[in-house]
Amino acid sequence: MQPVGIIESCYPDKFGIPRQPGLARHATAILHLLPPFDDPDCVRDIDGFSHLWIHFLFHASPTRWTPLIRPPRLGGNARTGVFASRSTHRPNRLGQSVVELAGVETGASDRPGGRQTGRHSGVRLLLRGHDLLDGTPVMDIKPYLPWVDAVPQARAGYAPAPPPRHAVMFSDEAEQQLEQRSDSATLRALIEEVLAQDPRPAYHAAKTADGKRQYGVQLVDVDVRFTAYTQPDGSLTMQVAAIV
Ligand code: SAM
Repeated sequence: MQPVGIIESCYPDKFGIPRQPGLARHATAILHLLPPFDDPDCVRDIDGFSHLWIHFLFHASPTRWTPLIRPPRLGGNARTGVFASRSTHRPNRLGQSVVELAGVETGASDRPGGRQTGRHSGVRLLLRGHDLLDGTPVMDIKPYLPWVDAVPQARAGYAPAPPPRHAVMFSDEAEQQLEQRSDSATLRALIEEVLAQDPRPAYHAAKTADGKRQYGVQLVDVDVRFTAYTQPDGSLTMQVAAIV
């Protein structure tokens, strides 16, 4: 197999990426098709589909795998079978995500630093609500068909519902840093969606919700510094300390 494209993502680092697509709807990516697939014929009629299946390689995961893995959903300690999980540590390292198709561009990119690929001078799919690391090789693209791919009555084992969303607060300093950006509204929404998932490793989450330990998530071109603390009612709040 050879990659058909490569992802340019708002997630430059693995830490903080939501564990499934759709959890952060403001997450954006550009899927650059690579030669010889950067032929506009390859994407003819694709704009008729609102969502796509992206099949990709977990290129930043180790090639080693084990039959049992510890999914964050089970608290990071209990183990389950690799094929009963969506873990990145798996044979062949293949991932799949349903993402929103926000646009299709052909021809040369007018973005600063935009990539140029091959003789067709570029085909780019603009994606939203994804869970893909920057640089992810894409192995295939298919339209999502709700009448066959959505099974609302399906059982979902130990992951029956979306993960809980936590409150996200911004310090005055973080608010000021946001205001200075032209993309403040979308960046703010992305930060809220990402932190609401509590990106901390499962084994930290139980121990360090005292507001003392600071974590950093890389989003777009910023480092979002945050702490987590437990409210008197037991709920968790993520506090954005600074955006640098
Ligand atoms: N939706 C996909 C699936 O079910 O196959 C991915 C699920 S996996 C649990 C999601 C995690 O994969 C993200 O939180 C991110 O940290 C990681 N990830 C995304 N792209 C990756 C890549 N190219 N290499 C390694 N890990 C990646």
